[in-house]
Amino acid sequence: RKGNVVITGASSGLGLATAKALSTVGNWHITMACRDFLKAEKAAIRVGMPKGSYSVMHLDLASLESVRQFVDNFRRSGKPLDVLVCNAAVYLPTDKEPTFTADGFELSVGTNHLGHFLLSRLLIDDLKQSDYPSKRLIIVGSITGNSNTVAGNVPPKANLGDLRGLAGGLNGVNTSSMIDGGEFDGAKAYKDSKVCNMLTMQEFHRRFHEETGITFASLYPGCIAETGLFRNHVALFRTLFPPFQKYITKGYVSEEEAGNRLAQVVSDPSLTKSGVYWSWNKNSKSFENELSKEASDEEKARKLWEVSEKLVGMA
Ligand code: NDP
Repeated sequence: RKGNVVITGASSGLGLATAKALSTVGNWHITMACRDFLKAEKAAIRVGMPKGSYSVMHLDLASLESVRQFVDNFRRSGKPLDVLVCNAAVYLPTDKEPTFTADGFELSVGTNHLGHFLLSRLLIDDLKQSDYPSKRLIIVGSITGNSNTVAGNVPPKANLGDLRGLAGGLNGVNTSSMIDGGEFDGAKAYKDSKVCNMLTMQEFHRRFHEETGITFASLYPGCIAETGLFRNHVALFRTLFPPFQKYITKGYVSEEEAGNRLAQVVSDPSLTKSGVYWSWNKNSKSFENELSKEASDEEKARKLWEVSEKLVGMA
């Protein structure tokens, strides 16, 4: 039978490129889990995804209610879940003040981490039930949250501290809107959320891999300088960033190539090792990359898991 993959944020950028790459292989049905139904439908048609290879289902990660609703709707669709890709993200580097999810969490961590945390905590049961030979849960990471690299050392650096802000609910009212309890900084909030994504993947691996055989993986797809992720950045940045990445850092990767990379992590029979953070070298060959000290801190991963479970109402 065809594999069934759910991809969050498949209406643009990396998620869309991955959906397209998988749709052309022919042995996948893709559920595009998106907040803007019409945008996703139009995008699928625009990039030429074959009819019948995909369906769009509404999911707004900035609302825990919507996440639970999505899980119910997906279950009602009767499809098994074979692979889940947590890809969606927001990046708000120029915001001076925090904005918040429906549940009152700072928007970048609320969407990128907490929304995906609840989604994957709930859907792990569906993955367990699938009879697909290679079941996977993939959480897209980034180099920006990875302070053992040059890119990860561009200030402001990711730092979760002792998670006091997160434990307080990130609501900016009686606690800080930042995980470490500091002043709001949109760029840092994004990087922190990506560290959470990578810690979550590893904690899933420790808790569930042996018992379930599910492969848990994260990846840095390369710098896809032209995606919508930078839509909230200043105009000059958006003009200069792609050539800077192409010619100076040479980390640039096209949406299509990045989509092929993530599609590999979804379906390639050679990428089944669990607990791995994949990266690609200049010749587009995948390798197991190392994570920064903080992004591989087991104690922090456990604490993050426990605090996050409380915040999303699972503990
Ligand atoms: P895009 O902005 O193009 O895509 C982000 C997607 O997330 C969009 O489809 C967007 O939906 C969706 N999204 C945002 N908020 C929500 C929400 N509340 N609920 C549901 N979906 C939502 O960015 P990229 O493709 O670049 O980013 C994809 C992933 O790649 C992210 O995890 C990012 O961290 C990661 N990444 C990107 C890099 C890059 O250089 N671009 C580098 C490393 C990692 P909508 O279309 O409605 O806005």
